[in-house]
Amino acid sequence: MKFCSDCAHPVSRLTPPGDNRPRYVCENCGAIHYQNPKLVVGSIPVWEHGDDLRVLLCRRAIEPRRGFWTLPAGFMENSETTSEAAQRETEEESGAHIDLHTLFSIVNVPHVHQVHLFYRATLLDLEYEAGEESLEVAMFSEQDIPWSDIAFPTVEYTLRAFFTDHARIAREGGEFLLHSEDIRHPMMRPD
Ligand code: ZN
Repeated sequence: MKFCSDCAHPVSRLTPPGDNRPRYVCENCGAIHYQNPKLVVGSIPVWEHGDDLRVLLCRRAIEPRRGFWTLPAGFMENSETTSEAAQRETEEESGAHIDLHTLFSIVNVPHVHQVHLFYRATLLDLEYEAGEESLEVAMFSEQDIPWSDIAFPTVEYTLRAFFTDHARIAREGGEFLLHSEDIRHPMMRPD
């Protein structure tokens, strides 16, 4: 940030009285411009009939990570809820029609000032098409997931947790859990 968004005066980087970290402060009008993490919200759209379990993924048409696969997700807008954001992003990126279920994962990515949230979702049909930000949209069973071409560790974490939960529930019943994780180096893979 270089200029005050209230008065257009150049801002300074300093710790305001009573605060404990540096902020962008306008010494002309006194405005303190706080910067806080952004929420990235998406879904895990699933098609399941008998033993056939598949998850919808989008191949990114935009940077970062163009050409890599991701769950449909994007930045939450003002005046919407997290579940509305998940529904909207899924529709925009994949054209998919979904029923949204409970929150499944919450992943902190402090390095890039983001928190990623993914909701479970059921596909209502198999009619989908790539939106503006996707090169293609496709369904993958667990063994076909392109693990080495997944765009972000938050998506890989969420997919692995989803299949682990799904297998546990198939084996012994129970519910999907809420999974939380901190990823400190976003472009580094667990392996
Ligand atoms: Zn100002």
